[in-house]
Amino acid sequence: MRAGLNCGYNAGISSGLQAGPYQLRQDMDMTTNESTKPNNFIHQIIEDDLAQGQNGGKVVTRFPPEPNGYLHIGHAKSICLNFGTALRFGGECNLRFDDTNPEKESQEYIDSIVEDVRWLGYDWAGEIRYSSEYFDQLYDWAVHLIKEGKAYVDSLSAHEMREFRGTLKEPGKNSPYRDRSVEENLNLFEKMRNGDFEEGECALRAKIDMAAPNINLRDPVIYRIRHAHHHQTGDKWCIYPSYDFTHGQSDALEGVTHSICTLEFEDHRPLYEWFIENLPVPAQPRQYEFARLNLNYTVTSKRKLKLLVDEGQVNGWNDPRMPTISGMRRRGFTPASIRNFCDMIGVTRSNGTVDVGMLEAAIREDLDANAPRAMCVVDPIKVTISNYPDGEQEWFELPAHPKDESMGLRKVPFTRNLLIEREDFAEEKPRKWKRMSPGDAVRLRGAYVVRCDEVIKNEQGEVVELVCSYDADTKGQNPTDYKPNGVIHWVSADNSVPCEVRLYDRLFTEPNPDGDKERDFHSFINPESLKVMPNARVEIGLKHVVAESRYQFERTGYFCVDPDSTEEQLVFNRTVTLRDSWAKIKGK
Ligand code: ATP
Ligand code: MG
Repeated sequence: MRAGLNCGYNAGISSGLQAGPYQLRQDMDMTTNESTKPNNFIHQIIEDDLAQGQNGGKVVTRFPPEPNGYLHIGHAKSICLNFGTALRFGGECNLRFDDTNPEKESQEYIDSIVEDVRWLGYDWAGEIRYSSEYFDQLYDWAVHLIKEGKAYVDSLSAHEMREFRGTLKEPGKNSPYRDRSVEENLNLFEKMRNGDFEEGECALRAKIDMAAPNINLRDPVIYRIRHAHHHQTGDKWCIYPSYDFTHGQSDALEGVTHSICTLEFEDHRPLYEWFIENLPVPAQPRQYEFARLNLNYTVTSKRKLKLLVDEGQVNGWNDPRMPTISGMRRRGFTPASIRNFCDMIGVTRSNGTVDVGMLEAAIREDLDANAPRAMCVVDPIKVTISNYPDGEQEWFELPAHPKDESMGLRKVPFTRNLLIEREDFAEEKPRKWKRMSPGDAVRLRGAYVVRCDEVIKNEQGEVVELVCSYDADTKGQNPTDYKPNGVIHWVSADNSVPCEVRLYDRLFTEPNPDGDKERDFHSFINPESLKVMPNARVEIGLKHVVAESRYQFERTGYFCVDPDSTEEQLVFNRTVTLRDSWAKIKGK
């Protein structure tokens, strides 16, 4: 059975509205999927390494998130690259939390990251790993460097250290503490570990070269004092290793062969290699960099996304407008669409910006092929079929998918009281109008042709009801003596499901919300990014759908059941419109 089928019309009531089967990992054949993907430059490097018999023919990668926020679409690119590369070469990919900044990290973030990686369809080798598991080893290696005369405890303040560091044009200056004896350094480092110093009083630095053209090599700090509780190691440590001192050594400990990261780490690579060369590490990992993903109309920085959450600009990290993986999931994206998008954009070393329209196209393509169809009237207006008997009901059968018979048929009830979309009626018909207007006949999709005979208005002059008559001879066939003016969607007012529909638009109005020198990204937040339609009605077959089930609402867009749904009130999120309306509006 294909994914998506049983999340459709007959899905049973599920307590707590669990996730639909689109998310099942079993529905993917990852091996064939991965090996048919085009090569990228990293794959080329690995093929060359394998041809030369490097690393004993093994390929080990890792995805190393810092648990200081939820994952976003940029991370998806890194996940697909790291896990996808391992799959392609029959290797392994580790999931490792790079957890050296305890104050910013939390279990909530760890849990969300684990869930997101799984949901994207990937499995890591062995247990989840934490850099903090290596703190003992890293401490010993720091002591090793001190004993070799390659690290020292510096007592300059952070401010002074910055002043001594020099600039891109000027070399740095040696700290007056640089030549402390090995014994003194060992003694001070142990005191640091024992909590004898305040934060910032001193730090352990690698002794490399204060005149190095690459600033990262000017005696980088490798251990700093933080009297902070750690989510994994508790209060065991009050000194924490720096990212640079942790990352490569963790790679080496795990036997990572290809440590793939984004381009901003290119300047750190000499330092990565310096540690690997100067420590008795068990393996020789190599670092490779690729360009990070930037998307227009989107902010992809955990720090900024956290601001949006903390300020209440959105309703949490998984708000469907967020470019987080959990937000996109809630919005209705499928794991396959995100993986396909990552394939489409490719992996290179040149920074650029990808059009968010590509991401929308990826989900449209998946849902067009796989989402069952349904009718939902988002903003209803009442239609009474005056010549249809009250209390009578007949069932029309419509295909669940126009191009995929295997999805079967759905049943839609026709009754005297119907609802159509307010915007499908025009009292004064514009040119080329192919919907309902007074005196004209239109087909109600899959049912009869009806003619609008009367327009009823309230005291404010607003249209509140349309009285129509139906043509009983138009069931499954067109009339011979006149031509209906278009086809519109509808639901029975007597037998349909009330629901709330949430219409989303882009969160930012500007292509580069982060790129304006004068205006902060906040000023580009789209005030109309969420429109709630509380009175929508969907066809009765969707009464018992579960969260994350996805549909195409005919003529309206692709929608997904939100976890806010209850058995009393279904909530649908619009994932994406049927066509790229934004491109038209912006005249692109
Ligand atoms: P942010 O800038 O959002 O805070 P980060 O790089 O600090 O992200 P990490 O948790 O350190 O976040 O990232 C884990 C991995 O994901 C790293 O290897 C990082 O290079 C990669 N990554 C992060 N953002 C992107 C992106 N936009 N495109 C591709 N890879 C990314
Ligand atoms: Mg980072």
